[in-house]
Amino acid sequence: MEMLAAVMRGTNQPLSIEKVELAAPKAGEVLVKVLATGVCHSDLNAMEDETTPVPTILGHEGAGIVVEVGPNVKTVKVGDKVALSWVPFCGTCEFCQTGQVNLCESAFGPMFAGTLLDGTSRLSQNGQGIYHNSLLSTFAEYTVVPEMSCVKMPEGMPMAQASLIGCGVATGYGAAVRAAQVKPGSTVAVFGIGGVGVNAIQGARIAGASRIIACDLKAQNLEIARKFGATDVVNVGEVDAAEALKELTGGFGVHYAIDCSGNTMAAQSAWKGTRKGGTTVVVGAFNPKKELALPAGGFHRVGKILKGSFYGDVHPFRDFQAIAQLYLDGKFQLDELVLDRIPLQDINRAVDSFHDPCCVNVGRTVVEFGGEAG
Ligand SMILES: [Zn+2]
Ligand SMILES: [Zn+2]
Repeated sequence: MEMLAAVMRGTNQPLSIEKVELAAPKAGEVLVKVLATGVCHSDLNAMEDETTPVPTILGHEGAGIVVEVGPNVKTVKVGDKVALSWVPFCGTCEFCQTGQVNLCESAFGPMFAGTLLDGTSRLSQNGQGIYHNSLLSTFAEYTVVPEMSCVKMPEGMPMAQASLIGCGVATGYGAAVRAAQVKPGSTVAVFGIGGVGVNAIQGARIAGASRIIACDLKAQNLEIARKFGATDVVNVGEVDAAEALKELTGGFGVHYAIDCSGNTMAAQSAWKGTRKGGTTVVVGAFNPKKELALPAGGFHRVGKILKGSFYGDVHPFRDFQAIAQLYLDGKFQLDELVLDRIPLQDINRAVDSFHDPCCVNVGRTVVEFGGEAG
């Protein structure tokens, strides 16, 4: 079928709105009419990265309606409204079998190769192949995705809000609820208040934390953190964050610290500000050239856990639906994350906004297709 898509043709070039061909779904694949897609900072990173295979169609935060299913698809049917996950899983490897579907390796080869799970593409133009991105390529009117990327949404879930669940929302929520396993009445610090951090705050709030301490360099971000449930804020540019956390928690430090910043210095502060027996979770991606240094003295005596978490340890089929239901019940803030709604033709405007130093990195511009996004 023919459709409109925003095509990335080269590094540091604006996306180009073009007609492209999309082939029918094969076994285990689903054709989704995209109704809404978030424009993420990771899309800009891909546009600036010379290793991104081109031409490609970016976009990994999406929601839409199932219009066709390939052979052997069991979990969704035509007419289902779905939110998309950019970490599909095989269900059969050792990691999947032990419930760690976020660690399934099946997605990574195709993700870097720019294909679907079988190593081929459904996208083309005049007989020339176009690469997929994150196995989703949602900057298009339609997309063919793995069945395991499609999570059915509850009745009444608006699509713009649903489109955001699969990236920073799930990662932040999962960091608190799944990776840290925040307990009711506990204290939680969240470092790095961006698209992941505010949702870690929301996860901690929903898990029943009594105190949620937002830690960031920007006063503006700390104010935003309060709107999502932070009870206290620490400006890490003004005070020693670890000491501030101890002061706020009777000298012990927090039960859980979650670092969403991708900054090794912040992760060190998170670790130092975590109390004995507590847990520090790192979800931000560090610069691979850096090393994370922790104080060695007394390490064995404090009984602390340091845990790296990919995708917030979420299981999409369990956690995406839980987040959507929490939203519908008025317990999870997603409306506040939809900053603007634009048509596909204006997508470069959303990408350009990331270059604005005043740009608030919490929430998204959402591209909507047609009038059904709701
Ligand atoms: Zn994203
Ligand atoms: Zn697997």
